[in-house]
Amino acid sequence: AFDVLVVGGGPAGAAAAIYAARKGIITGVAAERFGGQVLDTMGIENFISVQETEGPKLAAQLEQHVRQYEVDIMNLQRAEQLVPGELVEVRLASGASLKSRTVILSTGARWRQMNVPGENEYRNKGVAYCPHCDGPLFKGKRVAVIGGGNSGVEAAIDLAGIVSHVTLIEFDSQLRADEVLQRKLRSLPNVTVIVSAQTTEVLGDGQKVTGLVYKDRPSGDAHTVSLEGIFVQIGLLPNTEWLKGVVDLSPRGEIIVDDRGQTSVPGVYAAGDCTTVPYKQIVIAMGEGSKAALSAFDYLIRSSAP
Ligand code: FAD
Repeated sequence: AFDVLVVGGGPAGAAAAIYAARKGIITGVAAERFGGQVLDTMGIENFISVQETEGPKLAAQLEQHVRQYEVDIMNLQRAEQLVPGELVEVRLASGASLKSRTVILSTGARWRQMNVPGENEYRNKGVAYCPHCDGPLFKGKRVAVIGGGNSGVEAAIDLAGIVSHVTLIEFDSQLRADEVLQRKLRSLPNVTVIVSAQTTEVLGDGQKVTGLVYKDRPSGDAHTVSLEGIFVQIGLLPNTEWLKGVVDLSPRGEIIVDDRGQTSVPGVYAAGDCTTVPYKQIVIAMGEGSKAALSAFDYLIRSSAP
């Protein structure tokens, strides 16, 4: 059995594995896709102390760093079930079962997509999901934010300070964000809000985004907005469906952790985008992964089993 089994191989899982292995304990990582969301990222400019890097490069470096240590990396393995116990069991889609004295869940999250033509084609070429990451790339340009919930309105307020103009597009007939955010939004001179609007297409010139098409839902009329960037803010879905009923989750499906990364199940910790920890970022996921590994180690040295 493992001392620490990490499920998920993104920044949180890689950090957890390194911190665990450096304690000289038996460490494994099972990941569906080692590297995680970082593999889908192009420019990264906020990974502190590294001025600029690219997702696939950082993902390769994460793996190299983990491989410096004696860590059993099981890539392309999807976990499907967690069974609590003295030894926690993780059952994989392959049929294999792994047992460990502690488990660190770091399965990350995925952005909900609009699923319209052009969205995938222009991903990282104008279509973005993270204002903290990509906002500065659109300095002085025109962007749209899709979604009028708290994250969409927060993104629009944030971006309005950087870009020349923000068009916020909401499907419903009204915004769903907190009133205080809506008030702030309405006070900004360079924001236009369009409600009852369904984005139907991302337009581009083959290289980058040039606009979007939305349908005015009451009339059915199509309208085009010319712009350079589109921030999709219609939800971040944690990869925790397989844990429902076993580990306590928030209403949004995030694993509830305390300030040491402990979940509701003894010996089971969690870190990164799959948890209730606010702000989903690489540096934050790495810090949380390290913290969860130290907590797991602390649990091990306090438990009686050899
Ligand atoms: P993830 O990176 O999501 O990794 C999750 C891991 O778990 C993966 O290995 C996955 O395969 C695995 N997994 C999932 N389910 C299972 C399962 N059931 N069984 C086994 N394994 C499983 N952040 C920044 O700080 N700066 C940026 O510039 C930036 N740009 C971004 C651009 C894009 C396009 C995207 C999508 C995200 C960006 N982010 C950026 C956010 C950043 O990538 C995430 O915050 C970070 O990757 C979260 O790390 P994580 O380890 O928690 O999860």
